[in-house]
Amino acid sequence: MLLGAIADDFTGATDLCSMLVRGGMRTVQLIGAPNPGDPAPDADAVVVALKSRTAPTRQAIDESLAALHWLRAGGARQYFFKYCSTFDSTDQGNIGPVADALVEAIGSGFALACPAFPTNARTVYQGHLFVGGVLLNESGMEKHPLTPMTDANLVRVLSRQTTGAVGLVNFATVEQGAQAIRRAMTALKEQGRRYAIVDAITDAHLVAIGEAAEHHALITGGSGVAMGLPGNFRRSGLLSERTDPAALPSVAGASAILAGSCSRATLAQLGVARGHLQVLDLEPLQTPDAAVLIKAALDWAESRIGSAPIAIAASASPEKVSALQARLGRDAAGALIEEALAGIAEGLVARGVRRMVVAGGETSGAVVSRLGVKSLRIGPEIDPGVPWTLAEGMGPTLKLALKSGNFGAADFFLKAFQMLEHDHA
Ligand code: ADP
Repeated sequence: MLLGAIADDFTGATDLCSMLVRGGMRTVQLIGAPNPGDPAPDADAVVVALKSRTAPTRQAIDESLAALHWLRAGGARQYFFKYCSTFDSTDQGNIGPVADALVEAIGSGFALACPAFPTNARTVYQGHLFVGGVLLNESGMEKHPLTPMTDANLVRVLSRQTTGAVGLVNFATVEQGAQAIRRAMTALKEQGRRYAIVDAITDAHLVAIGEAAEHHALITGGSGVAMGLPGNFRRSGLLSERTDPAALPSVAGASAILAGSCSRATLAQLGVARGHLQVLDLEPLQTPDAAVLIKAALDWAESRIGSAPIAIAASASPEKVSALQARLGRDAAGALIEEALAGIAEGLVARGVRRMVVAGGETSGAVVSRLGVKSLRIGPEIDPGVPWTLAEGMGPTLKLALKSGNFGAADFFLKAFQMLEHDHA
């Protein structure tokens, strides 16, 4: 294991994995910190996905340290703490407190902090985070229900969360390239700063920052700043050239789509799929009972499971969603659907489904946890940010694609299975 990463949420972890695979590293995402003594998977990079972004701070620290200790036992040469490219946190944490704990446990005394991801329009200039053309605190993030970001100055934001001092490596330095960035970070460390916010507005900046941090034990940031890391390992001869770092073994079995996202993108993708596959729409308003929904869906699927993918969707228009929420309450409505889709996933696997696309972030979390999936080996991308993965855990090995609601082009579901056409083992 070359790189050992700790991510503060599930989809952010997958995002980082995709970045590393693109850079030529074979990458495995683990769901939660493994138990001490569990063997490390055969991979160049391992990303432990936690749900620590908005967890109580003490819990976030403990889980992050547990992940760190396991990664260290697995032989990681460099550590990465991945958080959101909008620096999602509060004055209490969890970015600062978790980073403090990691810096101390690793003994690095210093870490850079760079959430920039220009591809997704997140840039950092003079320490200020921009989303598109506007400052973070005018981007809508100031109204986020859990982590409202009311200050775009990351030096100030991080300072409020840490006992250490925070400096800045600004644009003028970053423009000069890796050597200048390295010197600036060394100077900040010598001045007693524990962190450096590093400006970046282009991918070239991210690559230079990665190169400058080649010998840093810990790097913190969004997935963007991981862009330069595979190159470091390659230059030092640790990472061999592979023909295909995203290659996955084939998995034989039936195919299914489960959709719990009500995003516009997912609704459009289902619309396209309807012309080509059999789709069952769940009717939770008629029978708001998970057990009944599960039975009806599995009865429907029974005779249809075969070589062509089938789709089962809870996804509905905003009006239908509001109607169910008005009847049950918002949380109970979400929980009912997640319970139903998780139960359907379990039933489909029991009936021979081995390749599955799940649409929806929360929905994916519910399905993965019900299926007892422990690790996802990252395969080829179907659309940016959504790879096929090889899922292993308590049940049979599966091919899983976990799609965050808004991701993917209109033909996503069709394309996903076309990619597996040569996959019959
Ligand atoms: P996304 O990635 O688009 O945010 P999620 O799966 O994270 O998708 O969230 C969608 C939420 O909507 C889930 O909690 C899901 O259970 C809920 N949901 C899905 N279908 C319906 C429906 N018909 N009525 C009410 N809630 C629904």
